[in-house]
Amino acid sequence: MKCFICASHIENPLSFKTFFHPPQHTNLCAMCSEQLRPITGNRCPVCSRLSEGICLDCQDWKNSRPHMNTLDSNYSIYPYTPMIQTIISQWKYRGDYEIGFIFKFIVQQTFQTLLNFDQSVIIIPIPLSEDRLYERAFNQAEVIASWITPEPKLLLTRRDYEKQAKKSKNERITSENPFILPKTINKPVLLVDDIYTTGTTLRHASTVLKESGCPRVDAFTLVRS
Ligand SMILES: [Zn+2]
Ligand SMILES: [Zn+2]
Repeated sequence: MKCFICASHIENPLSFKTFFHPPQHTNLCAMCSEQLRPITGNRCPVCSRLSEGICLDCQDWKNSRPHMNTLDSNYSIYPYTPMIQTIISQWKYRGDYEIGFIFKFIVQQTFQTLLNFDQSVIIIPIPLSEDRLYERAFNQAEVIASWITPEPKLLLTRRDYEKQAKKSKNERITSENPFILPKTINKPVLLVDDIYTTGTTLRHASTVLKESGCPRVDAFTLVRS
């Protein structure tokens, strides 16, 4: 069996030890797997950043931008490392659909064992705008969501403010909420995305959802950058 990233030969993919302690990545060699280690240690209970208690970012959302402090929590699997950066950009910007499957097992395992969402939660991937979807051919957030639910709900749509802002050189427009929710949702929602960077995208989405009557919005992301 060959490593999915570096193509080196993987020895003993299923030893006695790995049978009782399932490896996080069955399709990677030990070296690549070592560089794709999940976040361990104390994390901010709101955003998954390494922190003892609620981090400064999240305190700032609460104090300086309370109208957008609408996301109840985000759970990320990986820290942002050079390895993850390479894989994500290959997946996202260079259209390598297959490489994303490195993450499938760990996403499913994390969702089933660490996150406690009941059946009633509505799982919504963060959408791409139509133009972006056309450029990239697929939405990686939707792929991740499809690993944890047979039917991700494509309930949000997204306007391409960034592109408009570039055209008009208008910075202000990027701070506008790009999401539209065509119908009301009054059940808890789990948003799914690939990366949590500043948390602005997820909070734009959670704000729209809460305005429509959604009682709780959490997020599940692959990477906390
Ligand atoms: Zn490897
Ligand atoms: Zn935080």
